Amino acid sequence: MNQKQTNVNQFTQSSAIDRLMFIKDRLLLAKTAIIAYIIAISIVAICTVVGNILFSVVDQSNLIMLYLLGVVFVATSNNGHQGPAILAALLSTLAFDFFFIPPFLSFNVSDIQYFFTLMVMLVISQTISHLTIRVQRHVEAIRNAKIKAETEQLRNIFLTSISHDMRTPLTIIMGSASTLLQPEKISMDVHKELARNIYEESKRLNNIVVNVLQIIRLESGAIKLSKRLHSIEDILNNVLERLAEELHGHSVKLHIAKYMPLIPLDHILIEQVIINLIENAIKYSKVNTPIEISARTINKNVLIKIADKGKGIEPHDLENIFNKFYRANTKSDTDNEGFGLGLAICKHIVQAHGGKIWAENDRNGGAIFYFTLPLPGEACI
Ligand code: ADP
Repeated sequence: MNQKQTNVNQFTQSSAIDRLMFIKDRLLLAKTAIIAYIIAISIVAICTVVGNILFSVVDQSNLIMLYLLGVVFVATSNNGHQGPAILAALLSTLAFDFFFIPPFLSFNVSDIQYFFTLMVMLVISQTISHLTIRVQRHVEAIRNAKIKAETEQLRNIFLTSISHDMRTPLTIIMGSASTLLQPEKISMDVHKELARNIYEESKRLNNIVVNVLQIIRLESGAIKLSKRLHSIEDILNNVLERLAEELHGHSVKLHIAKYMPLIPLDHILIEQVIINLIENAIKYSKVNTPIEISARTINKNVLIKIADKGKGIEPHDLENIFNKFYRANTKSDTDNEGFGLGLAICKHIVQAHGGKIWAENDRNGGAIFYFTLPLPGEACI
């Protein structure tokens, strides 16, 4: 088959799929509409049955209220579609006439008064259904406007944060590079210092870009978990090996409980959570202070703890630090200010595994981060 034929076949196939999808959507809409009309008829039938039971104890005007209540119910439960509510209003008027207006069990109206009652009932029920649907559409419009405003606000915060955080490293890189372009004016030591600046700031820029991409992918659901059974001990040792250079100057105390079961997890993502938490422990505590890492099982979960001996976190920040772009007032001792995305990424990943993540302050100083992961076949605590 030549290329042209293949293209024609692909085109025919994709338009057939589009047509099928269109028919499927139409059928689904028709099914929803039929159900809505059946519900409207059933509500009128229920009102009639209840009305018959109450007929001997309540007067006709109260029975009208019962039908009007039914119309309101149909109007509010149909997502702004007027058809079922109009049908309910018409059927209610007919049923009221048939069952509760003399001569009974007939559509004839003996007294002209009743004719007015029926007309008023029809108009009121139509008006109620119309107003209810208008209110519903109004509420929906307000909700959409609110979502739009929040999205806009988030985008602005995002753009302000990203441009501010990228400007600092970019300015340093540009300044260092422009000085390096005049090598005759600088000593070898300054040369090295500038090159180091460029390296460090590029690393920082890279971190920002990686974190931003990661949160976008996590939020859009583009990242699918690839869970396998893993030993938490292997994962922790692996991470500590990767962070050996950064951990230089901190003593790490690792406690892993005996007989830890294998945990179903996506090891790349969970390693990222542990890396983010240990990197924060390094960033927000002084060199030479210990970092304690432990893992044990508790209530059908594995509990991982990462504690440092830094300044800790203000109580009002304990919840907020897991929000996107939130940075508490804690100053980093390594002068390596972050971007406020690390913990938001951790929260996404842990929750996607069915676990929880939270922070506490140690009574003896420092911050403690905990997260749980459910054991095989268990829900989180
Ligand atoms: P950042 O990239 O700014 O570090 P994170 O999302 O990782 O962003 O952390 C959010 C905020 O939480 C930080 O700005 C910091 O104030 C606070 N924080 C995180 N970890 C610690 C810690 N171990 N000790 C004290 N404060 C911390």
